[in-house]
Amino acid sequence: MSSREATYQDRVTSLEEFAPHFNWKELGASDHSVQFYEDNSHLINSLKAYVSTGLKANENIIFIATPEHLFDLEKQLEKEFDISKLKSQGNYIALDAAETLSKFMVEGSVNSELFAQSLGELVKNTILTNRPLRAFGEMVALLWAEGNFDAAINLEKIWNDLRKKYDFSLLCAYPLNSFSGESKVNSFLHICEEHSHVIPAESYISKSSRDERLRSISALQQKAISLEAEIAEKNRLELNLLEQQAKLNLATMRTTQLQEAVDDLKAFSYGISHDMRAPLRCIQQYSSLLIEEFGKEMNSKKLELISQITSSSRNLDKLIQDILSYSAISHQDIKIRPVNLNKLVNDLVQQYQDFQIPNAKISINNPLLPVMGNEDALTRCLQNLLANAVKFMPPGVKPEVKVWTELLDKNVRLWIEDNGIGIFPKHLERVWRIFERVYPQKTYPGTGIGLSIVRKAIERMGGSVGVESEFNKGSKFWLEIPGVA
Ligand code: ADP
Repeated sequence: MSSREATYQDRVTSLEEFAPHFNWKELGASDHSVQFYEDNSHLINSLKAYVSTGLKANENIIFIATPEHLFDLEKQLEKEFDISKLKSQGNYIALDAAETLSKFMVEGSVNSELFAQSLGELVKNTILTNRPLRAFGEMVALLWAEGNFDAAINLEKIWNDLRKKYDFSLLCAYPLNSFSGESKVNSFLHICEEHSHVIPAESYISKSSRDERLRSISALQQKAISLEAEIAEKNRLELNLLEQQAKLNLATMRTTQLQEAVDDLKAFSYGISHDMRAPLRCIQQYSSLLIEEFGKEMNSKKLELISQITSSSRNLDKLIQDILSYSAISHQDIKIRPVNLNKLVNDLVQQYQDFQIPNAKISINNPLLPVMGNEDALTRCLQNLLANAVKFMPPGVKPEVKVWTELLDKNVRLWIEDNGIGIFPKHLERVWRIFERVYPQKTYPGTGIGLSIVRKAIERMGGSVGVESEFNKGSKFWLEIPGVA
């Protein structure tokens, strides 16, 4: 026989040893076995085999289980044995698992002394009858179900210590589903380590032929490998998620810090702008006082210088007011309500002489459509647009301004058309930016903030702005916001 054939022969022979069925008669006198089970009926069949094998061999039985399991087992045993008689002779001792457990559990831990005084004594006394002892205990499974894993493993160890003192066989049982989940893998191995025999659950045991059992082992191995791969993938994704979460937290933290810095800066600049107005008012008042008190004694040069001071401080005051308005329109809460645009524009024209004949002719194409917006912000916008429309005029030309609205789908577009100097195409975009002005202060006074206030306010109302213009051909400014449904 070649060495190759000999190896094959060895393998075939050893195959016979593979995947044996568990035989209760093979249990050693001092074995500590664990039975895993999927279904209660399988556990009861197993227990019946375990206990009846012992009873037939004239062994004593200590059976510690839940009331349900006790009831089901005894119903089975009664078909073959006189249970009452066996109980009265002390050959079959049945105990309630929870009640027995309560005798030696102290604050969630097993007290070994109390265990020795209760169960230890019972085992000792039963052994003294000179019959072999077979015990079944389900207390560990109760502790496990409660999530008290340490106590369950400790109780297994205490049973093992007792078995070192006295020879008896012990069987424990756990429902397999109490070990589901990746986190239970190690504790499952730990429980197995505490036992001399591990009896698999019925999905393996129930296979009748050796071949079926080998197939079931192969299927389990395949399942284990794919689960391990899935777990590795899950862990990788979890790690990835944690990294992303950490980055997000960092970004959120930085955004909060940045927002705080911006808020501080806003409060600071608002405060400064506000405080600068008081000394400015002083300058204006003292300039007026100077002229009132000493104007008659001053020559025209001095009077001119003082009026320069007054107008510069007035300009600066206007600039500060506009900055404050821009800041307010950018950050204040803007409540949107239906606004009667027709009344708003007519009131504005009535209010300012610059908008009235003979200074200007403003024709309103009544009635202007109502809109959804903020009345104060809209007043501010229209005041700026009308002021610009009458301001940017060629010398000697009387402002003629037309105002009308049109409905565009659900929005209302309001137009303000003037006959002014118009805007070069290259400036059409930049006029909306803050502090951008096309002409020097002397030619057309202003701060360069008005249109940026308009744009910011309209955008905050969910709308948009625009302008159509050509140099020397007047301008058509428009704003568009939702209409009243
Ligand atoms: P200000 O009017 O204080 O200069 P605005 O922000 O209101 O500032 O306007 C910015 C610039 O846009 C103006 O300086 C001007 O050059 C241009 N502009 C605004 N409105 C008109 C208009 N109706 N006609 C011509 N140019 C205009």
